[in-house]
Amino acid sequence: MTISRSSLLGDLDVDVSLDTPIGAMTWYGIGGRADLLVSPRNSDALVELVRRCRRDDIDVRVLGGGANLLVDDAGVGGVVVKLDAPAFRQVKYSASGEINATSVGAGADLFRLVQDTKRRGLSGFEMMAGIPGTIGGAIRMNAGGAWGDISKCLRTVTHLSMDGDVRVFDAADLGFRYRGSDLPAGIVLESTITLAEDDPIRVRERVMEVFQHKRSTQPMADHSAGCAFRNPTDADTELSAGALIDQAGLKGLTVGGACVSHHHANFIVTTPGASATDVRNLIDEIRSRVRAHSGIELHPEVVVWTRGRA
Ligand SMILES: Cc1cc2nc3c(=O)[nH]c(=O)nc-3n(C[C@H](O)[C@H](O)[C@H](O)COP(=O)(O)OP(=O)(O)OC[C@H]3O[C@@H](n4cnc5c(N)ncnc54)[C@H](O)[C@@H]3O)c2cc1C
Repeated sequence: MTISRSSLLGDLDVDVSLDTPIGAMTWYGIGGRADLLVSPRNSDALVELVRRCRRDDIDVRVLGGGANLLVDDAGVGGVVVKLDAPAFRQVKYSASGEINATSVGAGADLFRLVQDTKRRGLSGFEMMAGIPGTIGGAIRMNAGGAWGDISKCLRTVTHLSMDGDVRVFDAADLGFRYRGSDLPAGIVLESTITLAEDDPIRVRERVMEVFQHKRSTQPMADHSAGCAFRNPTDADTELSAGALIDQAGLKGLTVGGACVSHHHANFIVTTPGASATDVRNLIDEIRSRVRAHSGIELHPEVVVWTRGRA
């Protein structure tokens, strides 16, 4: 589909780049390009952009930190939105008694927020230590780990629907569950998280504990998108996806430049020269071998963008 850029973007307060290698912006660092990458400078511009895309039947995808994303080698069409303007990365702390309701823009960086809350002696965000990405991506994925997921501290989510309507949800009404929620399709604009005042030293100790655990169990220095598969919740097993892959003898299984990590079987890591196709083929191979070994169907946690309709 040919997009009329003047009718879509003319007079909008946005930065635009064409034919942009967004695969390189992901944690995998591989994969194709976006026909149109748009960074709105404020939420009015974003809302109007989404409305025009709906009017013109153009797909909108939102790129966070790219930490849970694989972009196909053929790239993606439509519009890819990136919330990297300062307006989307603001963090505002507002204390009320011992509770701090922090408002966080969807483009804010998780690492930075963990550091910032730790420095301020605010407790409640420690479980996100070592998880890369943005707040928006973390809410979409309900990211987290053994110490809980992000929904634990979420109070509200401001959301832009693909029709261009903005609505503030109470997080308690969003049915957050393991790596999912009832949050409708669309774009997270902002959230409030509730944190409690605490001794900065104790907060730092908890952050270090979470971080050390991740470092000892996950191949954090390699290129990956975190866990490749969700732990089975609909199958008759207590085993994690990693344990199922390990039991099928797949650690070290390689397709092209993509490999099942020896460190953690649920991580697909890449070596220089790997392609997104290698990773996709390895995902298929793992699913088929685990199915054959245990009869369990694994479902990818990593989000894969392809040229088809979103
Ligand atoms: C080394 C490593 C370790 C990891 N460890 C963990 C872990 O312990 N626990 C865990 O849960 N995850 C982990 N991950 C995965 C990843 O960090 C999380 O899923 C993270 O929340 C992704 O955020 P992101 O901003 O990078 O999203 P992206 O990867 O950019 O996008 C992921 C999905 O979220 C959507 N999205 C992004 N921003 C928005 C928005 N503003 N509104 C709506 N949708 C949006 C995208 O469209 C896409 O569908 C790890 C990844 C790596 C590379």
